[in-house]
Amino acid sequence: MSGKRIPLVAGNWKMYKTIAEARQLVPDLVRGLANVEEVEKVICPPFTALMAVKALLEGTDIGLGAQNMYWESEGAFTGEISPKMVAELCRYVILGHSERRTYFGETDETVNRKVRAALEVGLIPIVCIGETLTENEAGKTQAVITRQVQVGLSGIQLQPDVTGGIPLIIAYEPVWAIGTGKAATGEFANQVVRDLIRPTLSTLFGDEVAHSVRVLYGGSVKASNAAEFFTQSDIDGALVGGASLKAEEFIGIVKAAVESV
Ligand code: PEP
Repeated sequence: MSGKRIPLVAGNWKMYKTIAEARQLVPDLVRGLANVEEVEKVICPPFTALMAVKALLEGTDIGLGAQNMYWESEGAFTGEISPKMVAELCRYVILGHSERRTYFGETDETVNRKVRAALEVGLIPIVCIGETLTENEAGKTQAVITRQVQVGLSGIQLQPDVTGGIPLIIAYEPVWAIGTGKAATGEFANQVVRDLIRPTLSTLFGDEVAHSVRVLYGGSVKASNAAEFFTQSDIDGALVGGASLKAEEFIGIVKAAVESV
């Protein structure tokens, strides 16, 4: 089976950091992550800080991502940002984050439109999925995860590129673990990825793609608990919210990923 999965740690800054604040954080990240080559690093600031952060990342291997986009390429959609606008600045885009699903009415269907649109312009989507606490407690995790993968990724083609990598990333983020300080256990998260997410990917795209897609864990990851996730067989990194706002924490998480390689 081809396609060694290179670990990736992505920081979702959510609605934090003005341009001035980003200009304070990014140089610390750049210094702390210099020469860390075994792990791919991505930061996803708010739209308003993307240009400034892009300039600060010039000459580094830290990737830039947006946190959302609309699926139409242009038009009278006041307040929205199109895929080609994001692609002018970024290589990655987070799609379907649970906060977007909860507060902004995103559904598996709208996430799917965004995923298709992102792939069309060459962006690498980081597609977020995860069950709520109620769904988890009602024993619906399997049904929810399977549906989110099937519908969210329906109608797309995924092929390994020349390096064997797949231009799409999944972030398994149980909603009950996001921003709560109550991370899932590494064992539970790995089970979901290994027994639910990869088998669903396999039915959609075949075994090789299912094996090669990178699947991140997200939900209250910090430097002190990151190793628990990175040492699991099927988890390929993390999508980090709160802890990505502090240089020391984010660098600590990336270093934990390096140690697991
Ligand atoms: C997130 O925003 O995707 C996230 C996982 O947040 P936190 O790390 O703060 O739980």
